[in-house]
Amino acid sequence: MADTQAVRSQPSTAARHAAVLFGVSGLLALVDWAVTGGHPQVHAHLYLLGIAAIDLGAAGAAYLLPWARWAPSATLILCLPALAVIGASNKVGLVPDRAYGMFFVVLFVWIGVHHPPGTAFKVLPVVVVGFSVPVVLGRVHASLDLRAVILVVVISCLVAEIVSRIVAQSDREKQRAERAAGSLRIVGATIAAARHLSPEAVLDGAVDAVMGLGYDGANIAVIDEDAGAFEPLHTRGISEAFSGGSYPLTDSLTGTVWESDQAIIVSDYQHEPRTVEDIRAGGVATAVGVPIHDNGRVSAVLMAALGAPRAILPEEVEALKLLADAAAGALASARAFQRQVERAGLSASDALTDDLTGLGNRRRSRQILESLSVGDCLVLIDLDRFKSVNDSRGHSAGDRLLSDLADYLASRLRKPDSVVRHGGEEFMLHLPDTTLAEAGEVIERLMAGWRDRAPLATFSAGVARHREGDLSGMTLERADQACYRAKDLGRNRFCYEDLGEEVLSPAGV
Ligand code: GH3
Ligand code: MG
Ligand code: MG
Repeated sequence: MADTQAVRSQPSTAARHAAVLFGVSGLLALVDWAVTGGHPQVHAHLYLLGIAAIDLGAAGAAYLLPWARWAPSATLILCLPALAVIGASNKVGLVPDRAYGMFFVVLFVWIGVHHPPGTAFKVLPVVVVGFSVPVVLGRVHASLDLRAVILVVVISCLVAEIVSRIVAQSDREKQRAERAAGSLRIVGATIAAARHLSPEAVLDGAVDAVMGLGYDGANIAVIDEDAGAFEPLHTRGISEAFSGGSYPLTDSLTGTVWESDQAIIVSDYQHEPRTVEDIRAGGVATAVGVPIHDNGRVSAVLMAALGAPRAILPEEVEALKLLADAAAGALASARAFQRQVERAGLSASDALTDDLTGLGNRRRSRQILESLSVGDCLVLIDLDRFKSVNDSRGHSAGDRLLSDLADYLASRLRKPDSVVRHGGEEFMLHLPDTTLAEAGEVIERLMAGWRDRAPLATFSAGVARHREGDLSGMTLERADQACYRAKDLGRNRFCYEDLGEEVLSPAGV
């Protein structure tokens, strides 16, 4: 996870701000030069041109150099031309004595805004020299003395520190908010995808999401109360050190979570008395355990681990709790499915076939979703106002319409494509290795052919393509959202997944 202390504004921003300051200062020198064009003191006149040249040169360098490639502290080098022009400007009277110190304050504000707390003290010796040289050497302006140096330096450092600390604090808060928003996005996507997936894939998705939140290890410790033991499953990262096998609940974080039925944070795992030796040896520094419930009991624990110690924020624990809830739902439905298969004595292929249409059922659609390849397209099809067909023509007419659509879709698909009944009046097409445009042509053809049959109900559809890095289930979720949009836009049409710009099929019949 990002180090909240170290990040400051981009070096290029610091250099751009410096470029503006140099630019303005250069223009002022040029204006002064133009105004005092007839000045008898020719050397002062030339000085002004020299100052403008340093200013504009520094502005150009600050603007053009590739600061982003270097360490953020590299921009501090710009203090040198700044000190040179402030000193020279004072010498020629462009900066009067009473304003001399003010320019140092401006310099330190720039340091404070763009560099971490403490920087002002580090550059202080250079600035003191830069401040004093014109005073000592030039001595044209007698009112500047040691007291002024001390006053200006102290005030400048204070201002830089205060500004720097305020900026650092607001950086930290911004990062915290961004991290919370990022966590919510990951957790939200996992939970949304969960409804399309098998329990195993949900558990996998939950630990993947934990890793996505920035942890170095994750697993689900499944508890066997009778044996007084737990088994770590779906292990990722540093948790893999104790992959497989069974561990006693006593003397373990899992056991503590199980007993207390609440989320537990172990901030110093290496020195915690109740821990598992294998995990300690794996290098876990901080660990969080969140209970996963089944019928009111703790049936498993979602574990998240860090390799370096770090404080865990309350919102991070909340994110883990949401993932644990998704995992709890998955475990419960896995058990329910198992009971159902056992009770009905179903064969494996029966368990994947829909009775009414003979197509693959929801479980088959989960299998397809879990084996999607990058570049595959999914189309979610939903009959329009199907409820009113049931209401006006009766449930059996509705059933016949579902079977008709199933036969129609199955008969019209190309060889590698497949269709399953995803649920009630929803069908899912799987089009392997297909572009969105090709999928659009397929669905357009299917819609036109279905309309030609003057069916009792048309259908709407949403199309999405599986992309690199998509979690299982996310692609169907996007197709589902696109189908919703097609419904909103009046039904009897299809929409592509939201890619920033919407493409619609021709208006319906
Ligand atoms: P929309 O255009 O917004 O999709 O409207 P809709 O009426 O199709 O959608 P809604 O979700 O309100 O209703 C779906 C209906 O599908 C309700 C449910 O009774 C019916 N349905 C689901 N499965 C079956 C089935 O196996 N047979 C029959 N006859 N009806 C079913
Ligand atoms: Mg529906
Ligand atoms: Mg419908």
